[in-house]
Amino acid sequence: MSLSQLARSIKESPTLKLNETAAILREKGEPVIHLGGGEPKSKAPIDAVVNCATQLNTGDIKYAPADGLPALKKAVIRYTEEHYNKLVGPDNIVCSSGAKQSIMNALYAILDPKDEVIFPAPYWVSYPEMVKLAGGVPIIVTPEDGTFHPTIKEIAEMIGSYTKAVIINSPNNPCGVMYSRDFIAELVQLCEKKSIYLIMDDLYNRLVFEGKTAPNCFEFVTDQTDRSKLILVQGVSKMYAMTGFRIGWAVTNPELAEAMGNIQSHQTSGPATPSQWAAVGALNGVQSSIESLKLTLENNRNVMVERLQSFDGVKVTKPDGTFYCFPDFSAYMKESQKLAQFLLEKVRVVTVPGKEFGMEGHLRLSFCGTIKDTMDALERMKWALDPNSPNELYLAERRLVRDWL
Ligand code: PMP
Repeated sequence: MSLSQLARSIKESPTLKLNETAAILREKGEPVIHLGGGEPKSKAPIDAVVNCATQLNTGDIKYAPADGLPALKKAVIRYTEEHYNKLVGPDNIVCSSGAKQSIMNALYAILDPKDEVIFPAPYWVSYPEMVKLAGGVPIIVTPEDGTFHPTIKEIAEMIGSYTKAVIINSPNNPCGVMYSRDFIAELVQLCEKKSIYLIMDDLYNRLVFEGKTAPNCFEFVTDQTDRSKLILVQGVSKMYAMTGFRIGWAVTNPELAEAMGNIQSHQTSGPATPSQWAAVGALNGVQSSIESLKLTLENNRNVMVERLQSFDGVKVTKPDGTFYCFPDFSAYMKESQKLAQFLLEKVRVVTVPGKEFGMEGHLRLSFCGTIKDTMDALERMKWALDPNSPNELYLAERRLVRDWL
């Protein structure tokens, strides 16, 4: 078959693929525990459901404006003022079918062929493929000190004449680390000085633990004009547990917002209207669900980190936020894809290989499931990997005896 060079250069989303693998195994009755997921277990907020259902009941579901319903833009304006202390207008906003589409629109709107986009490793799996889809070249910065936190110097050193943008996701998927306030401040200033775009993927910025708050990028902007090259990306998927509604948005300068809206108008048109009404409900409604999700996640994180620390040889960095942990398992197996396959085969635990996020030897483990699943999965993993753990394990009704350590 003749496929385009572009199609041949793009990999399947490994996280979505894992969801499929887990579902197939479950259907066969296998006792699978899925630590590869990227969505909270909790339900969408009731205000989102009611608002959506009210619209659906009218039966009058038509095209929305390409860049979003006025009601959703209004809710985003209010949200941006409340959470970022930043006054914006409808011309600054483009609502899309998920933050994924917001980032894609931004890349299409700013990249010329061969333009470079810098982001630190570990990175969200989709960034390299998205940059390539838009004709650009991904440039990855791996922190030299072995931590998950790049320095400004490391980013600055990679900026060259082809650099168009930096993408920052903090707290970060897959490692949960939140970049420091100083780093964000210096990065905003560096991008302004070099006149390059800064895409702030803030999808997890309210899922931060121990009473900490994520730095607000707008606080450090000195260019308050309509030429500012800051692009804030947000959405309802993670904080409101509304992944299936597919609503995200971008806040940026009016010229870029218009270009992004135009691109979207030819690609998908405006996001599905029932989903937009659901997002309006979530943004304007009672906000207690975020707090309770955060508390659940923090508790799950503590359990996961504590259990991982009991493994002989695993190095864990405690996540500041999100629902992902990214331990280093290289003491057991250097190749993360092999390790993930081994865990799936031996103990039916789904994990995501670190290689997909630009860091070999690590696995991404999600703690957005139930506490029981988290504990059971780690017990199984410890049994499979750590020679100091007991030799027997019961998987559902099956008694397993370890014969490979
Ligand atoms: N950015 C990051 C860092 C993510 O983890 C995700 C979802 N996994 C997205 C963007 C896309 O989110 P959405 O569901 O809103 O498209």
